[in-house]
Amino acid sequence: MTTPAPRPGILELDPYVGGLHIVDGVSHPLVLASNESPLGPSPKALAAYAKVAKMLHRYPDGDCLALRRAISRRYGCDAENVVCGNGSDELIAMLIRAYAGPGDEVVHSRHGFLMYPISARAAGATPVAAEEVNLTADVDALLAKVGAKTRLVFLANPNNPTGSYIPAAELERLHAGLPGNVLLVVDSAYAEYVGRNDYADGIELVEAHDNVVMIRTFSKIYGLAALRLGWAYCPPAVTDVLNRIRGPFNVTAPAQAAGVAAIEDIEHTDMSRAHNDTWLPWLAERLEGLGVTAHPSVGNFVLAGFADADAAGAAYEVLLQRGVITRLMGGYGLPQCLRITVGTEDEMTGLIAALGEHLG
Ligand SMILES: *Cc1c(COP(=O)(O)O)cnc(C)c1O
Repeated sequence: MTTPAPRPGILELDPYVGGLHIVDGVSHPLVLASNESPLGPSPKALAAYAKVAKMLHRYPDGDCLALRRAISRRYGCDAENVVCGNGSDELIAMLIRAYAGPGDEVVHSRHGFLMYPISARAAGATPVAAEEVNLTADVDALLAKVGAKTRLVFLANPNNPTGSYIPAAELERLHAGLPGNVLLVVDSAYAEYVGRNDYADGIELVEAHDNVVMIRTFSKIYGLAALRLGWAYCPPAVTDVLNRIRGPFNVTAPAQAAGVAAIEDIEHTDMSRAHNDTWLPWLAERLEGLGVTAHPSVGNFVLAGFADADAAGAAYEVLLQRGVITRLMGGYGLPQCLRITVGTEDEMTGLIAALGEHLG
C-alpha cells in the first residue's frame, strides 16, 4: 500500500519547540523562556486591539497600508518596500520558499536562530552552518560556506540565543564578500535593545544594495508576540516577490491596529528599553555572582553557561519546580546553557533567589 509522502527533508526536520508558559500546579509562573517584553505592549496598542473587536466580520487591509506608513515614519524607511508578515517567522519562511529549493543551500551561523535551518529544510533546501568564534557569528567562516549552491545567508544581529552581535563594519564586510545573486537576510529582532554605537540594524544596507533584506518583529520590545506581527524591508525586486507569494490577508486586522499604536507610543518603547538597560546588567552580574557564566548580551536575554549539560539540566528542573521557566538550549547545540529572558523586577529577584538556593 502506498501512502502520501511529504517532500524529501520534511521528516528529517526537528520541529521548533517554543518556550513553556505554564507549569503544573503553579498559578503564576515566572515566564522567562521566550524573550517577550516583561512590560507588555503599550496601553494604546491594547486599546486599538479592543476597538477592532467591533469589526471582526471585515477582512483586514491586505496591503497593511496604515501599518507600513507608521513603520516608515518611525524607522525612516520607504513604505513601498516594507512587507508585513504573520510574525517574522512567516517572512523567514517566505524568503526561503521564494529563493531556495532542493539542491540549494541556506547559510547561517552555528548557534543562529533555529527558524533558519527549519524553514530551509521545510522548503527542501539544505541549511549550512558556519562555525562561530566566542559564540559570535564569524564573517570569514560565513563567507567560507558560501558557494555556487548558496541562495541566502541569514544573520540574526543581535543573535538569539547567544546575545552577541557583529558591528556595522563587519556586517558590511559580510555583504561585500557575497556574490550579487545571494540574498543576505539581516534579522534585527532585538535592534531596539542594542545600545552600542558601532551597531547598525541593516536599513542602510538594504537601501544601498539589491541583495539585502532586513526583518523585524513586534514580538519583542513592542510586546505583541501573541498577535504575530513582523515586517521586512526589501529591495524593490524582493518586495515584488514577497507580495506575489504571501497570502492576501496574511496579517490580521487586530495585529495591524495594535502594531500602529505600539510603534507610535515612543514613550512606552523607551520605558521598555530603559527597563532592559537596568535589569540586563543586574541579571548578568547576579548570575556571575552565583558562578554561572553570563555570556555578554546586547538583547533582552542572557545565555547562561553552566559547568556542563547535566548542571544546566538540573538548574532548569529545579527552577521549573519553583515556577521559574527558562529555556533549555540543547536544540541550539548549547546543552550546557539556559537562556533567560530579562523579566520584571519580581521575576528577576525570584529567579536569582531560586537559583541561589539551588547553587548555594
Ligand atoms: C523572537 C525572534 C524573532 C521573532 O519572530 P516572530 O515570528 O516575529 O515572533 C525573529 N528572529 C529572532 C532571531 C528572534 O529571536
